[in-house]
Amino acid sequence: MENLSKIKVRFAPSPTGHFHIGSARTALFNFLFARKKQGQFILRIEDTDKERSKKEYEKEIIESLKWLELNFDEGPFRQSERREIYKKYIEKLLNEGKAYHCYCTKEELEAEREAMLSQGLPPKYSGKCRNKPYDPSKPSVIRFKMPEKEVEFNDLIRGKVKFDTSLIGDIVIAKDPETPLYNLASVIDDYEMGITHIIRGEDHLSNTPKQICLQEAFGFPRPIYAHLPLILSSDRKKLSKRFLEGLSVSDFKKQGYLASALNNFLAFLGWHPAKEKYIYINLKELIEDFDLKKIQKSGAVYNPNRLNWLNYQHIIRKSNDDLIKEIESFVPVDWKKNPIFPKVVELEKTRIKKLSDFKYLASFFFELPSYPEELLFWAGISKENILENLKISFKTLESLDEKYFTTEKLKDAFIPLTEAGDKGALLWPLRVALSGQKASPPPFEIAEIIGKKEALNRIKIAIEKVR
Ligand code: GLU
Ligand code: ZN
Repeated sequence: MENLSKIKVRFAPSPTGHFHIGSARTALFNFLFARKKQGQFILRIEDTDKERSKKEYEKEIIESLKWLELNFDEGPFRQSERREIYKKYIEKLLNEGKAYHCYCTKEELEAEREAMLSQGLPPKYSGKCRNKPYDPSKPSVIRFKMPEKEVEFNDLIRGKVKFDTSLIGDIVIAKDPETPLYNLASVIDDYEMGITHIIRGEDHLSNTPKQICLQEAFGFPRPIYAHLPLILSSDRKKLSKRFLEGLSVSDFKKQGYLASALNNFLAFLGWHPAKEKYIYINLKELIEDFDLKKIQKSGAVYNPNRLNWLNYQHIIRKSNDDLIKEIESFVPVDWKKNPIFPKVVELEKTRIKKLSDFKYLASFFFELPSYPEELLFWAGISKENILENLKISFKTLESLDEKYFTTEKLKDAFIPLTEAGDKGALLWPLRVALSGQKASPPPFEIAEIIGKKEALNRIKIAIEKVR
């Protein structure tokens, strides 16, 4: 039996680019697993690459995790602040003869590589500096003496995985004793932080045998691995790094996707619940059903239409109050302050696919719409008739008392008129006069919200246009 209270996972991004959906999925799966097992979820910023790591990317990671509500229990730890720890371990390896200084120049390594390739051999470092004495006067890097053997591990998703490490060669593990590279820093931290399960993208699968050999050199226990499937494009090709980089979480937020919809979408990038259920309204429901063993091995197809569909499903399930809060950051200040704002949100709720849609769908409630005269014309009806009908609408609305200016009362007032003639010829120009749009909610709903005075004003403007 696993000891549940001890389960600890980490999300370990490198802050070298925008926080994209591939990273977000890794974070989500680590989070769901930790919560499901009542374990710990920690954030570790892998910023040992000084040139490529940026503070703004670290900020973006933390803000995106916060927005997605993937709250971590510990951290953020930064590898750049842990150099002393790595130094101790690197010196240990050097002292025990498990690592050594390599003085080869770039040119020498390149020549070695070419020579191997020309002999039809897979390129790897020859190990020629293995027995050279340490010479601090020459520039060097630190290499790990890779044992030559078969490494086997049980991946929770992929099953049994085997690697022949003799194909790998002595890898560089540090630029100098204070500057470890990814594989080494990661192994040391996973041990120091008590990580029990490593859940990460399949692109790291080939690093796992290297990391296992390093663990064994230190005498660290081996964590359990789970490598998440690649994310593929709709034609089942691997998504390029550049494409993926373009799919940043902060962009999805800006475009008006809900965090809950994005989580729902990410969860299905490789995972499926035991039951037929597709809409997960919150993380709580996801945690309940999540099972690492239900993650597929084969690539997960990225389908933006699915995200759009989910976003719509999440929007219509939101309470009006919650939706109002979400939409507030997508509209001008004076809209928010306008007392009609909540009513407009409620009316447009089922028409919004993305929160950002609201701004153009609903602008006519807050500002006088501008539209071409032709939009007022209903198929096959003469200009005179349209003008006549607009005047009828004006008179009908004018005759209604302000306090009866409700959708129901307006409908009642128009029933005898629509029964008498062409309904479309009467209501189409009225609706356009009020909204200025080709498609909008029905005219009575709009009239109720904008009120009698404004409705009459807009019909008058339409009449002027047609005249
Ligand atoms: N820093 C690595 C990355 O961002 C983490 C890999 C791992 O989880 O070990 O890809
Ligand atoms: Zn060398």
